[in-house]
Amino acid sequence: MKILTIALHKDGKLIPASFELIEAAKSIGGELYTAVLAGNAEPQANELASRGGGKVLAVSHESLDLYNDQVYATVLTALIAKYTPDLVLGPASFYGKALFGRLAALNGGAQASDATGLAMDGDNIVATRPSYGGSVVSEVVKNGGGPFFVTVRGKCFAESKDGGGEVIAEAVDGSAFDSQMTIKESKVESGGAVSVAEADIIVSAGRGLRAAEHLPMIAELADSLGAAVGASRAIVDAGWTPYSQQVGQTGKTVNPKLYVAVGISGAIQHLVGMRSSRTIVAVNKDKDAPIFNVANYGIIGDAFEIVPALTRKFTAELK
Ligand SMILES: Cc1cc2nc3c(=O)[nH]c(=O)nc-3n(C[C@H](O)[C@H](O)[C@H](O)COP(=O)(O)OP(=O)(O)OC[C@H]3O[C@@H](n4cnc5c(N)ncnc54)[C@H](O)[C@@H]3O)c2cc1C
Repeated sequence: MKILTIALHKDGKLIPASFELIEAAKSIGGELYTAVLAGNAEPQANELASRGGGKVLAVSHESLDLYNDQVYATVLTALIAKYTPDLVLGPASFYGKALFGRLAALNGGAQASDATGLAMDGDNIVATRPSYGGSVVSEVVKNGGGPFFVTVRGKCFAESKDGGGEVIAEAVDGSAFDSQMTIKESKVESGGAVSVAEADIIVSAGRGLRAAEHLPMIAELADSLGAAVGASRAIVDAGWTPYSQQVGQTGKTVNPKLYVAVGISGAIQHLVGMRSSRTIVAVNKDKDAPIFNVANYGIIGDAFEIVPALTRKFTAELK
C-alpha cells in the first residue's frame, strides 16, 4: 500500500491539515509519501520530513508560489504517474476539494470527499463520510483501477508531531507549469485572527444579535476563549460580517472541539456545517429553537446578558 498526502500552505506556512493528513495515512499504515509544491518548497519539505511525512516530494517552481488548480493538478499527476500511490489524501478545504475533483478525473481514479475516518477492510480502503448533513454516515470503497482520492475533514485526526523523513527534490517537465490562467495575487480576506476552518473553538453569531454593532460582544467572548468567530448566513447576507466566517451548507464545514452558537436558530443549512463539532453550546432566548436539538449544553436566555457574563467568567478563569 502506497499513500501520498498533499500538503497545502497559506502565506508560506503549511496549514495544520497537512500534518493531520500524515496521521490519517499512518492510521491505516503503508509506504508514506508527502508532496509539497511551492515557489521554493525546501523549507516546507524539511518541516514535513521532520514531522513524519515519509518520503517528501518537493517541487519548486515560480508558478507554484500562488495556488493554481490547473498547475497543481498537472504537477501532481506527474508525481502520481511516477510513484503510483493507491491512496491520495488531501484536506477537505476549499482548495483541497477543487483540486481533488480534477486529480481524480485526470488520473482515472475514484473520489470520496470530506472523510471523517479511514480504515482497511481486507485489501479495500474504506473512507467514512457523513452525508445528508450528518444524518447518514456512508462507508465508501473504490471499484476499479486508478488511485483512490480522498479529502479528509479537518480536526478528525491529530497533527503529526515528529518522525524521520527524507526530502526528495523532484524535477517536473516544464510544460506541467503552463496554464490557461494566471493567478496574479492572492489576498487573505479579513475575518478574525483565527480562521474558522482551523480553529479548535468557534463562537458563532446569528441574527439574534440584532445589529452589526453588537458583534464586538461576540469577538470579546471568542478572545476570552482563544476562539475563531463564525457566523450564520443571515448575518453574512445582511453584510454584518464577511463570508469567510459563514458556517453551513453554503459556507464552511467545521469540526471544532467546542462550538458556541449565539442567537442562531439552528436551520438545517447551518446545522450541516457544524453538527459534527465535539461539544456544542447554544445560547438562545427561544427554548424551542432547533439548535437545542443538537446542543450538548443549552442556555435559554438573552444573549445580551449571557455573553458578557461568560466573557467575564472565562477572562477571569482562563487568563
Ligand atoms: C440554499 C440555502 C443555503 C443556505 N446556507 C446556509 C449556510 O451555509 N449557513 C447558514 O447559517 N444558513 C444558511 N442558509 C440560511 C438558513 O436557512 C437560515 O435562514 C439561517 O441559518 C438563519 O440564520 P440565524 O439562525 O442567524 O437567524 P434566525 O433564523 O433569524 O434566528 C435567530 C435566532 O436568534 C434568537 N434570538 C433572538 N434574539 C435573541 C437574544 N437577544 N438572545 C438570544 N437569542 C436570540 C431567536 O430565537 C432565533 O432562534 C441557507 C439557506 C438556503 C435556502
